[in-house]
Amino acid sequence: TQELLINSEKLSVSGQLAAGIAHEIRNPLAAIKGFLQLMKSGQPTKQEYLEIISEEMSRIEDILSELLVLAKPQISKHVPKDIGQLIQQTVILLGTQAILKSIEVQVSIDDELPLLVCDENQIKQVIINIIKNALEATASGGVIRVSVRKLGHAAIKIVIRDKGCGISKERLARLGEPFYTTKEKGTGLGLMVSRRIIESHGGTFSVTSTVNVGTTVTITFPIEREQMNGFG
Ligand code: ADP
Ligand code: MG
Repeated sequence: TQELLINSEKLSVSGQLAAGIAHEIRNPLAAIKGFLQLMKSGQPTKQEYLEIISEEMSRIEDILSELLVLAKPQISKHVPKDIGQLIQQTVILLGTQAILKSIEVQVSIDDELPLLVCDENQIKQVIINIIKNALEATASGGVIRVSVRKLGHAAIKIVIRDKGCGISKERLARLGEPFYTTKEKGTGLGLMVSRRIIESHGGTFSVTSTVNVGTTVTITFPIEREQMNGFG
């Protein structure tokens, strides 16, 4: 039946994810174990070993904290929120990173945005993931533009635009695959997690990009009718 099909499809997706997680965590664990064994064998402890161990442990931590956001939907609380304010706060949160690279993040928000019924922490995580990618792709001195607009009366549209390195057509097709990353210290989980959160809020997510020109991420969220009538 239809129901069964949907369930088995979901199962295979999480099975795939579990296999990926196991694989991604086994590598740093093997490295940690190897260096610990070396130190146990009586070899003098080198600073270098300790640094590798601590780096590999941070990697495991990064992977787990990104995945934890996915585990939350079951206990998530959806309440009406001012998404413009939420985005403003998130940009401030990322301020130090932007300042370090001398990147200006310009934010433009429509007046009188309708409230969005959402899980605040999850939406924050989505915005962090996407602006972080834009910061990482942008050379120092660059500009990132974030806009939040009313889309007619039934939706909110968030656009995050950078003039960074861009993404080739081949890579664009793989975007959002778990663990797909082109960064030395990337987890390749940010976009997959973001997409799942957006979809669990009934929203849409799209990425357009041109190599050496830049990348535009567009997110839309539907607004419930009561919200538009001012009951929020
Ligand atoms: P991570 O950032 O850990 O690599 P993500 O899921 O956030 O994982 O992104 C996956 C990949 O998508 C990145 O490694 C990068 O190649 C590409 N990407 C995402 N956003 C951008 C962007 N704004 N500009 C260029 N490339 C991007
Ligand atoms: Mg990322």
